Amino acid sequence: MSHEAWNELKPGTIIEDPGSASNHFTGHYRKGLKPEFNELNCIHCFFCWVFCPENAIMTEAEKISGINYDYCKGCGICANECPVENKPKPLIMIKEVI
Ligand code: SF4
Ligand code: SF4
Repeated sequence: MSHEAWNELKPGTIIEDPGSASNHFTGHYRKGLKPEFNELNCIHCFFCWVFCPENAIMTEAEKISGINYDYCKGCGICANECPVENKPKPLIMIKEVI
């Protein structure tokens, strides 16, 4: 089945079943890029968690633990907002082999 990418969706929508976001898997919106997380370089500032529009940043024991690709739509906001500069970034966007 073919799906529109997140940035191809038409503006405006009607939520017919509010509170059901977890039932709607937005991972199929990804078109070629996905974030890759490297915990070794993470300072656990939670910027990515705050900015992710799909709540796809996973946490465990008050730390970032990874990406939930069932919901990650590949927008790249998390990698863009990650403030790490003096070492390799813990979040980068990579090509996804589909
Ligand atoms: S690319 Fe990052 S910000 Fe965008 S949906 Fe995926 S985890 Fe969230
Ligand atoms: S924004 Fe970057 S440094 Fe901060 S928690 Fe997320 S991955 Fe880690």
